[in-house]
Amino acid sequence: MFFPEIEKKPKEEIKKFQESKISATLSYLKNNSKFYAELFSTNALDLNSIKTIEDLSRIPFTTKDDVQANNDNFICVDKLKIIDYVTTSGTLGDPVIVPLTDKDLERLAYNEAISFFCTGGDEHETYQLTATIDRRFMAGLAYFLGARKLGAGIIRVGSGIPELQWDTVKKIKPTALIAVPSFLLKMIDYAEQHGIDYKNSSIKKAICIGEPLRNDDFSFNSLGKRIKEKWDIQLYSTYASTEMAAEFTECEYGIGGHHHPELLIAEFVDIDGKPVNDGEAGELVITNLDLEGMPLLRFRTGDICRHYYEPCKCGRTSLRIGPIIGRRQHMIKYKGTTLYPPALYDILDNIEGIVNYIVEVYTNDIGTDEILIRVGCAKVKENLEKEIKDHFRARLRAAPTVVFENPQTITKLQFPEIGRKAIKFFDNRKGL
Ligand SMILES: [Zn+2]
Repeated sequence: MFFPEIEKKPKEEIKKFQESKISATLSYLKNNSKFYAELFSTNALDLNSIKTIEDLSRIPFTTKDDVQANNDNFICVDKLKIIDYVTTSGTLGDPVIVPLTDKDLERLAYNEAISFFCTGGDEHETYQLTATIDRRFMAGLAYFLGARKLGAGIIRVGSGIPELQWDTVKKIKPTALIAVPSFLLKMIDYAEQHGIDYKNSSIKKAICIGEPLRNDDFSFNSLGKRIKEKWDIQLYSTYASTEMAAEFTECEYGIGGHHHPELLIAEFVDIDGKPVNDGEAGELVITNLDLEGMPLLRFRTGDICRHYYEPCKCGRTSLRIGPIIGRRQHMIKYKGTTLYPPALYDILDNIEGIVNYIVEVYTNDIGTDEILIRVGCAKVKENLEKEIKDHFRARLRAAPTVVFENPQTITKLQFPEIGRKAIKFFDNRKGL
């Protein structure tokens, strides 16, 4: 029931299955979405002739800017049908309101139940949710609904407060955490400081959200390694977004997030919007299937990843996506290489003595990208600058400029607004 048959079918059959949903998706948008009705008519699209995934390329992409500027025109249902309102996180620009109908909530529950199942979860699991379920976020709600559908238990502890998290572990004995990976490090820290025998606790796995755990080759990145070295529980990466209202989740083999073909069509395109080959880095473009409130068509997520089609040992044949390499808008062309900020973070996270940091990118006199790394350091030990640069040269074949600052100065820059996520990347390039 939680391992959909379609996810075990040959690639061609999955494609046909998805294509059987295109026509209904397009006519739903034409009849219910002001934005798409206008887009179809402006571009004189003959919807009846769009039948395959390749045919979709005749339809212009939808961008985050489109949705931000025309939020109301994307909403396909009357207010009477809307149950839950969530908003996108708004890390780039204004948050977008995404309404969910009763059917959408059921779809969200299904998505999360099959995703949990993919991580070996079933009715015997008790999840401890260490992420927020309110504040207009979709994720927490999805976890709750998914656990309920799966017949599993769930404890809504919410974000932060390691003391309450460990108190919950002690009293209720959950088997799995749902957590941002860096928060797992905070929980480990707290446990070590307070003599909690975390290694022998009831927790056997963590469903990790919001931050990548793995490198391009699926080995653990610095963050993943730091957790595993201290606490050898099973870590599962997930990738999801409010706009997708669906998730890509790793199975026990940890070789990319599995796609659920019944929930969305995924395309992968280069900077010019042309399809990339299997295994090449490309931007994920999604088309929601069977979503009622605010379905999107060929929505450019901005997230760059690789995709793979070889069947997985878990029996799933649907495509898999690798870790998110970065955001399209953040792509840096640096001394002949293309890179994304997370690769820089991964290096900096691994060097002892660095308290915090920010990465600034700007345009130099000859019009190309320059990187300045401002490192927060309580006491700059000898050779630290050289050490940092050597790490960069080893990984990226070039070393950016490094300056040292007081860690408090960096914290102030990272948190211009109270309660928001830390900002580590500052894009000061011209023409943006
Ligand atoms: Zn698998």
